[in-house]
Amino acid sequence: MTTKQNARVKVFNAIRDGVLIRQPCEKCGAAYAQAHHDDYQKPLDVRWLCASCHRLLHNELKPPLVRRSFTLTKTGPIDGHMGIEDAARALGRSERTVRWWLANAVMAGERFGRDWMVRKEEVERMKTAPPPKRGRPPKPKTS
Ligand SMILES: [Zn+2]
Ligand SMILES: [Zn+2]
Repeated sequence: MTTKQNARVKVFNAIRDGVLIRQPCEKCGAAYAQAHHDDYQKPLDVRWLCASCHRLLHNELKPPLVRRSFTLTKTGPIDGHMGIEDAARALGRSERTVRWWLANAVMAGERFGRDWMVRKEEVERMKTAPPPKRGRPPKPKTS
């Protein structure tokens, strides 16, 4: 049995025995999460991630894959998130603008490789409180 298989069996048994409790996804809060091992040598040292976030994490761990075949906008929104393309369309702005907002923390988002995911609530927030047209971050008010 490989270390990886061994780790999976240990997790399975630990969940069955109540030693390990399945948690919601640590990224998006989805109820059903899978156990992810940062290190298979530590079988019970796991992180909980739903299928989508788990896949994204592994894509992140393999940079060449991210560049070649990983386009969030093609896989569509996951678990209450939107890709940049969808967020831009929802806000009636260009992808470039939304990208700029994210890079400059005008808008909150999570980065996966070279792509971003934006929570739908954040898109809604941006709809009601749009930033200046030129895309500059709002200056902190001193009054
Ligand atoms: Zn998730
Ligand atoms: Zn994993």
